[in-house]
Order: sequence, then C-alpha cells, then structure tokens
Amino acid sequence: MKLKILTMTMVATPWLLGAHTAHVHGVGELNIAVESSRIVLAFESPSESIYGFESEAKTAKQKKIKDEKLTILKTDMGKIFQIDADLKCDWKVEKVGVVQEGEVGHQNVRAEWIATCEKSPMGRSLKIDFGSSFSRLKSLKVNVLKDSGQKSTTLKSATGEIKF
Ligand SMILES: [Zn+2]
Repeated sequence: MKLKILTMTMVATPWLLGAHTAHVHGVGELNIAVESSRIVLAFESPSESIYGFESEAKTAKQKKIKDEKLTILKTDMGKIFQIDADLKCDWKVEKVGVVQEGEVGHQNVRAEWIATCEKSPMGRSLKIDFGSSFSRLKSLKVNVLKDSGQKSTTLKSATGEIKF
C-alpha cells in the first residue's frame, strides 16, 4: 500500500522524502520503491556529506566542488547504481536539489531517479556505491518498498548491495 502512495506522490508533488526528519552529518537515507518494471529511488543527505559545506558556495573552489558532486547525482547515476545489464534498465534523473533543513545553517541534498526496465527487477540485486564519490557519507539507511512489504538496511560507507 505504501508503495502505491509513494508512486502517486511522485507525479503530484515535488519530493518523495518530505517527511525525512533527522539531519545527521555523514548519514543519508535512500527510499527505493520496486515495481514490476520500475525502480523509483529517492535520496536525501546533509549537504555537508555530499560536497562539504551547507551554505551558498562562495569561493570558486566551493562552486567547483558543489557543481562536480551534484553533477554526479544529476547525470552520472551509473557511478552510484549498478544492476544486471540483462534487465536493460533505462535510468533517468527526476530531480536534484538543495533544500533548507530545520535549523538555520543546515541544508540537505535531495535526489530522485527512476529506472525503467525491460525485465522485472524482483529477485535481483542493486549495487549501491555512494562511497566512491561521496567519502563524507559514512552510512546510508536504505528502505526498500515492495508490494510484499518494506525492509530497511544500513550500508556502511553508503556502499553495498540490496536484494529486491
Ligand atoms: Zn548540517
């Protein structure tokens, strides 16, 4: 049931992870909804853990690193996510942005992707590797939502493998 709500929300509202509350540097969260031929992924993390600061980029160096790191999320999902090639999944970024967190001076990065696959991803594994690109991210809580229910796992260094 939760899966259906999540999918509908995708169409109507800007962000999947609006209710995300904790803001702990080094800790991110990834919601994954798995359907018959689609995988919908919504990621949120403190900006500090993505590009090292949580203010407007002031110096040229800050602008460069912020741009580089957000570009990985926007266009280079293949560095982060890998699934069996025979599924022929087509990955698209839905949205990547920076939002203000509750406390002044804190910001989060949010990103959403959709993979549309020719074969069902059920029973397959998704390799997740935020660690290689985002070394400040020490831990990632992954919530997998399927028709059969939800399960959560925490990946050390935001890197590991999830079975659908
Ligand atoms: Zn912060």
